[in-house]
Amino acid sequence: MQAELISIGTELLLGEILDTNAQYLAARLPALGIDLFYTSKVGDNMDRLTEVIERAWGRSDLVLTTGGLGPTEDDLTREAIARVLGEESSVDPELERQLREFFAQRSATMPERNLKQAMLIPSSRAIPNPRGTAPGWWVERQGHIIVAMPGPPSEMQRMWEREVAPELERRTAGQRTVLVTRTLKTMGIGEGHVDELVSPLLKSTNPSIGVYARPDGVQLRIAAKASSREEAQRLMQPLEEEMRRILGDAVWGADDDTLESAIGDLLQRNHLTLATMESCTGGLLANTITNVPGSSAYFRSGLVAYNAETKIAWGVDPEIIAQYGAISAECARDMARAVRERLNADVGVGITGVAGPDPEEEKPPGTIHVGFDAAFTVPQHVSYQFAQGREAVKRRAVTTALALTRRVLLESKGHEPV
Ligand code: ATP
Repeated sequence: MQAELISIGTELLLGEILDTNAQYLAARLPALGIDLFYTSKVGDNMDRLTEVIERAWGRSDLVLTTGGLGPTEDDLTREAIARVLGEESSVDPELERQLREFFAQRSATMPERNLKQAMLIPSSRAIPNPRGTAPGWWVERQGHIIVAMPGPPSEMQRMWEREVAPELERRTAGQRTVLVTRTLKTMGIGEGHVDELVSPLLKSTNPSIGVYARPDGVQLRIAAKASSREEAQRLMQPLEEEMRRILGDAVWGADDDTLESAIGDLLQRNHLTLATMESCTGGLLANTITNVPGSSAYFRSGLVAYNAETKIAWGVDPEIIAQYGAISAECARDMARAVRERLNADVGVGITGVAGPDPEEEKPPGTIHVGFDAAFTVPQHVSYQFAQGREAVKRRAVTTALALTRRVLLESKGHEPV
């Protein structure tokens, strides 16, 4: 089955929002064995929208659209589909009843404008959307399908997962080749080195292997094509085992794993707690750590000590600041010690540096010091200079802190990587 995506909305063309819907859908089609050949973005303009849908209808088996199903005048997706198919729209009484009920449950009267969300054409059926007022449309004629989904990502994603993907899965069963991928995430070895290490495996075509540099380390993507998911996984397994054997501890996770979730697992397995004191990252490390559900089991708290007085008030040695400055490896290590002691945690992590764009204490922007302190090992730190913008420096400092924490925990606790 050949598919094409159309993202609808003038906001997309103005660069006001990113087309995350297309990204979401594109990432999910290979597992269904559906080939994606085109994606387009088009504004809320009837002629151009009709033109794009008409072309897609002519050349693709499956057209997936998102956006333009709302009640306002510039929501034109239904009208454009009706025009392309040359069919008349009419209000469906059952959809109208549901729509009125939706508003009644929220003690609101339905604006008559919303009635267009209860419209159908003879070739369409409504796809339920409990998260919003706009039902989707499943349109089918002469072997071609258009699935029109709402623009808001949470509505679209639910509709895709619950309604659209299962139906497409049924349709493509038996005749599909699925593409399944597995991503191994590494830390501490450069792209070239990883490439060299796994080079004997790179010749493989199914599964195929790709090596990519990402902000949180080098990733290896294994992709296999087969007639079923299970078969693809069987093909990938020996290759994954071999890669893990070659790369050892450098592999810290796979697929959706994050460094913060890997650290969470390590801390929990070792029954350890963590506390952080941050300066230039302003709480980003604590935020990242607490993005992991269940992090309260091991994360004690995070302090943001943005100036020297606060650092001292929370237990950093004034002598160290006087001697080395607040932007120093010594200060980062002492922040880690102070917060560990102050918050009674097993592990303390401190970050100090210059987020930029201006220098501080005569240290250039992008200077980062991360300190690590724990009773079970000697204090450690990582220092470097990173030439990027303010936000990138902050993110990089957090990644460095997480990577250092992972490395020390693995080394001193001798546990298998996650
Ligand atoms: P509604 O019923 O809420 O009006 P709709 O189907 O008409 O939904 P749009 O009005 O086109 O959808 O978009 C609503 C919002 O959904 C946008 O303001 C934007 O925040 C989000 N959105 C729309 N399209 C996309 C997209 N392709 N990627 C990410 N977000 C999107």
